[in-house]
Amino acid sequence: MPELPEVEVTRLSFADRIAGARIDAVSLGKPLRWPLGCAPQQLLGQRVLAVRRRGKYLLLDLSEGLLLMHLGMSGSLSFGTDFPAAGKHDHFDMVTSQGTLRLHDPRRFGAVVYAASQSDAVAQKLLGRLGVEPLSEAFDAALFHQALTGRKTPIKQLLLAGEVVVGVGNIYASEVLFLAGIRPVTPALRISKPRAALLHHAIQQVLTQAVAKGGSTLRDFSNAQGEAGHFQLEAMVYDRAGLPCRVCAAPIKSLRQGQRSTFYCAVCQKP
Ligand SMILES: [Zn+2]
Repeated sequence: MPELPEVEVTRLSFADRIAGARIDAVSLGKPLRWPLGCAPQQLLGQRVLAVRRRGKYLLLDLSEGLLLMHLGMSGSLSFGTDFPAAGKHDHFDMVTSQGTLRLHDPRRFGAVVYAASQSDAVAQKLLGRLGVEPLSEAFDAALFHQALTGRKTPIKQLLLAGEVVVGVGNIYASEVLFLAGIRPVTPALRISKPRAALLHHAIQQVLTQAVAKGGSTLRDFSNAQGEAGHFQLEAMVYDRAGLPCRVCAAPIKSLRQGQRSTFYCAVCQKP
């Protein structure tokens, strides 16, 4: 599933190229997770002013309103010219004066949603409950520790929920907890201030590194220029069950938490 780094990598791969483009045509394939929320014709003639990101949403600022795009479980965007006709897994094509933006999404958990503004009800329903951005200055170590206090939820589950900090999905949650030396099942309230500071630092470090590596390509993620990511090749624990820990050589363990796979080293990570 595309996580924050993959969404940011996608954004970086087409934001500059689409900025200023005029929307000339929009065609929809099969229904996505949520409906577009406007007639496609309403978008014609509008300009794409900028592409921002909030959590795992891409926000395309238009002359009037914005498009919120989500890659769901299996989505990827491409932006270019001379595309072949839309295939059976291409469910959103937006032809602009500078190229076509196409959403390819075999499982169709992704979405493209129009909102009149970022503060209106449609946008707030999707963005309103998101936690702080981990790569922004608003992500503060002391506030992060405060947000963990009083919560019995296992730390990995709390990170995945995205209400404290957004963007730490399944791959990166295992990785940041390894880096911080914290077991994934540790209740959040058991994490001391110094350990929370280590975790805060690990979140920023891992996500920054993942963006720099072009994200992780597990099945078929690629950025909007069709390039795969390489972070997964350097994962310390993710998808390495039974393999020796890269630090202590003990076999990496795995367990299920909330129906998601978790990977950790029982030696390097303390409860
Ligand atoms: Zn280890």
